[in-house]
Amino acid sequence: MASLNAAVNRMENRTEVHLRPHHLLCIQKFTGHGYDAAFTAFMTALTGLLRSQPQTRITLVQGADDLCAHCPHLCGGVCDAAKKTAALDAAVLQACKLAPDTADTWQTLSVCAYSIILQSQEFHKICARCQWYALCKITEVLKNDTN
Ligand code: SF4
Ligand code: SF4
Repeated sequence: MASLNAAVNRMENRTEVHLRPHHLLCIQKFTGHGYDAAFTAFMTALTGLLRSQPQTRITLVQGADDLCAHCPHLCGGVCDAAKKTAALDAAVLQACKLAPDTADTWQTLSVCAYSIILQSQEFHKICARCQWYALCKITEVLKNDTN
């Protein structure tokens, strides 16, 4: 819990965040529901940062990211649903025509994911097999200054 508190407290000073590609969707659909209290607390702090500071630099990564670091499903540095989550990442990269190591602002990347996926049938094609799909389907996208 101490490391979580430290991570949350450091959040407002962050200028860069490492994200798996499909988390460009999840962050915009987040409404306070998570895998456990620690994950939800970190996700809440992260979404708050990105909504208030959309110029935050995002670097896309393959495998575990800054969010996964606080997830109970990360086991030995690897997601316990690695195949499924890697498929989500690949689908987002393909739909948005992004390279796996793209670095850009949250503003640019979130608008890209929003317009190409979340506002289209791509969302249903990509997300239908996710355990959170029923919730995300009825969730309005979190608004920041950019969308
Ligand atoms: S359905 Fe799953 S992958 Fe898609 S935005 Fe929601 S949590 Fe993320
Ligand atoms: S379920 Fe897997 S990809 Fe999603 S946050 Fe947890 S460790 Fe990361």
